[in-house]
Amino acid sequence: MSKITIAIDGFSSTGKSTIAKQLAKTLAYSYVDSGAMYRAVTLYAMNHNYISESEFKPELLINDLDKINLKFIFNSSVGYGEIYLNDVNVEHEIRTLAVSKLVSKVAEISEVRKKLVEQQQLMGKNKGVIMDGRDIGTVVFPNAELKLFMNASAEKRAIRRYNELTKRGDKVSFDEILKNVEYRDHIDSTREDSPLVKAEDAIEIDNSNLGLEEQFYKIHQMVQEKLTSL
Ligand code: C5P
Repeated sequence: MSKITIAIDGFSSTGKSTIAKQLAKTLAYSYVDSGAMYRAVTLYAMNHNYISESEFKPELLINDLDKINLKFIFNSSVGYGEIYLNDVNVEHEIRTLAVSKLVSKVAEISEVRKKLVEQQQLMGKNKGVIMDGRDIGTVVFPNAELKLFMNASAEKRAIRRYNELTKRGDKVSFDEILKNVEYRDHIDSTREDSPLVKAEDAIEIDNSNLGLEEQFYKIHQMVQEKLTSL
């Protein structure tokens, strides 16, 4: 059976990656978390003191872009590819609130986007890929056969993120998570380069009141319909 490209875009913490991972497993497709790539570049900038909450020196980061090597290595015990920054597994480190607070600033930089988009397009060149992010259906794979746009209320999304972070032992307050979700929504959807917008041909799913199973069933059906229509 021929393979398709599935683009899943949407606001922060809308459960894109949970659905994408489950779908990739069921279809035996590869899953790429494009947000992890922006997070890893942010971590690099933090480690080199190019960015903090009070200061950002984008030109230093841009100068270093050739020194930043990103790759995903499949971890069979979790069932997806984990991200490596210059050969170090940073999958856990990039999920902290400290990185979340700075990542949207880094993701505004066109030079960063250009480098990551090129890499993402290479990863998807043979189809059979599910990629989630903010500009996948609009910029990275404008010809993707199936495009989804996920949304949910900011409160619901903040609860999900809060539960995720506290479960792994991070000390965070619900208020700062909610603030961060709203802050990233704003920067991501108003930036000049590749803002978060729903692609014209994307199907919007508001999952504020939708359980995971129900959501998965609905999306899986869309994929099957698309595959049989080819
Ligand atoms: O998906 P996640 O919430 O981990 O993404 C972190 C941040 O990376 C987003 O808030 C956004 O600023 C940036 N991003 C982006 N384009 C993508 C994926 C993520 O600008 N395709």
